Amino acid sequence: MFETRCSELVGAGDGLRLGGATFVRYCRVGERMGAGMTTANHATETHETPTEHFDVLIVGAGISGIGGAYHLTKQRPGTSFVVLDSLDSFGGTWWTHRYPGVRSDSDLHTFGYRFKRWRGAPIATAAEILRYLGEVIEENDLARFIRYQHRIASAQWSSADQRWTIKATRTDTGEARRFTANFLWMCQGYYRHSEGYTPEWEGMDEFGGQIIHPQTWPEDLDYAGKQVVVIGSGATAATVVPAIAADCAHVTVVQRSPTYFRPGRNRNDIAETLRELKIDEEWIHEIVRRQMLRDQAIFTKRAVEEPEKVKSELLAGVRAHLGPDFDIETHFTPSYRPWQQRIAFVPDGDLFQGIKSGKVSMVTDEIDRFTASGLRLKSGEELPADIIVTATGFNMSVLGDIAFEIDGRPLALSETVNYRGMMFTGVPNLLWVFGYFRASWTLRADLLADFVCRLLAHMEEIGAKQVDVALRPEDAEMKLLPWIDPENFNPGYLMRSLDLLPKRGDKPEWQHTQDYWREKDEIPAIDLDGPEFIYR
Ligand SMILES: Cc1cc2nc3c(=O)[nH]c(=O)nc-3n(C[C@H](O)[C@H](O)[C@H](O)COP(=O)(O)OP(=O)(O)OC[C@H]3O[C@@H](n4cnc5c(N)ncnc54)[C@H](O)[C@@H]3O)c2cc1C
Repeated sequence: MFETRCSELVGAGDGLRLGGATFVRYCRVGERMGAGMTTANHATETHETPTEHFDVLIVGAGISGIGGAYHLTKQRPGTSFVVLDSLDSFGGTWWTHRYPGVRSDSDLHTFGYRFKRWRGAPIATAAEILRYLGEVIEENDLARFIRYQHRIASAQWSSADQRWTIKATRTDTGEARRFTANFLWMCQGYYRHSEGYTPEWEGMDEFGGQIIHPQTWPEDLDYAGKQVVVIGSGATAATVVPAIAADCAHVTVVQRSPTYFRPGRNRNDIAETLRELKIDEEWIHEIVRRQMLRDQAIFTKRAVEEPEKVKSELLAGVRAHLGPDFDIETHFTPSYRPWQQRIAFVPDGDLFQGIKSGKVSMVTDEIDRFTASGLRLKSGEELPADIIVTATGFNMSVLGDIAFEIDGRPLALSETVNYRGMMFTGVPNLLWVFGYFRASWTLRADLLADFVCRLLAHMEEIGAKQVDVALRPEDAEMKLLPWIDPENFNPGYLMRSLDLLPKRGDKPEWQHTQDYWREKDEIPAIDLDGPEFIYR
């Protein structure tokens, strides 16, 4: 390919019930971002637009941004900072996604922070994750740093002033807000929260039923007794299908190609045993976390070294649920090797129970077009539907769709080279949090938070106001490649946006290695006086 060189915290608001649990104690229950979103992206500034200055500005109050706030208060007390988020409350992903059954697909012992224990079942619902994040905010008095309903539209770096100017719009009032900050900590996630990705199919406008993307699932969607077709078979489909199947007349999952699934019990035996033995919860958290990380490391290594063996184990897991007569070859045998895309965990085999009961059927075929009454497939088969759910993924949002300028010039991120998947050449005083594909995202959010705090301390120590990363003399001949190697990992949202992402070099310093087990030692050991760091 291109190979080159709560508005200011609104205090205790109403509680909100989601997924059976009341969890929001901090925020106003407002409009969800999405259909009802205020699109006041371009509020006009006046000379009266207030400007506030902070040492650090964190973009996003999802799991990464809340973690960043925690680490700053603990490791850099006295640092002035603010967390801005365009949504009405904290949680990011876990606030936005509200389709039935929404849950994590990795275990919370590693998806949770290293500093806050997780006591529940490994796979958690969005409501449980929000409750956990709410506890982190409350226990650490972080609410005072977070401002919701602030959508950031632009960020301009001035080398003369050695600071960023950030322009935001309040989504509730449309007012312009302006901030300056010495350092930008980008915890914006990786996809656009306002809407998911839906491909264009012929005849969509002729379809007489409802087309729903899970990311903007209407709270009042009535699927009881309906014929539902779900397009796609990734983690979202695997979650939503078992959650709605019992109520629907029938659910048909249409996939162009199969996905790997990993069925397993949603409990951790070691944790349960340790609890029976009355071991301290702190210890249990640490032991289970280590066990999970060790198991994940072994699995990831095996997926690369003996993919065929891992593949047959995964297929045997599915076979054990669906029995010998089910056509696993057609519907559950992907053409790629395990871990080239995320593997969807199926807690307690719930997806397969629906298939076995006859409530859910799998169709592996291509969509020819939408019709007035459903879908026509390339094979000629017609699938009747009242509701079509497009579980077709995300639109990537690179750096929060913020218009960046460096000294008056628009930033072309694709022309930069990324330093360890967290900083970019030519972009001073900015760190980007992008987690792991094959391990929990938060493992990296914690590691990078330590790095930011260490970097800020170092800058203070040497009296620097600006840090850049730059290629070293020995990198002059380094081949520059697309940000991610599609051979390594190739989900659709990334492949569709590869041309927007920074370049990767062929040395670990200049790429996101996606390897937690390597980075957990490498990142804390980074020499901040190394030649790749330039301080001013
Ligand atoms: C349904 C679902 C399940 C998942 N399960 C897992 C899992 O089990 N394990 C795992 O590792 N990963 C999982 N992921 C990936 C998941 O998104 C991340 O792991 C993690 O939640 C990302 O957290 P974050 O805080 O970095 O980003 P997000 O959760 O995306 O939050 C980013 C925040 O930044 C805000 N923001 C962005 N741009 C702007 C802007 N311009 N102005 C103001 N605010 C802005 C957004 O409003 C949002 O609140 C899942 C994703 C989905 C969708």
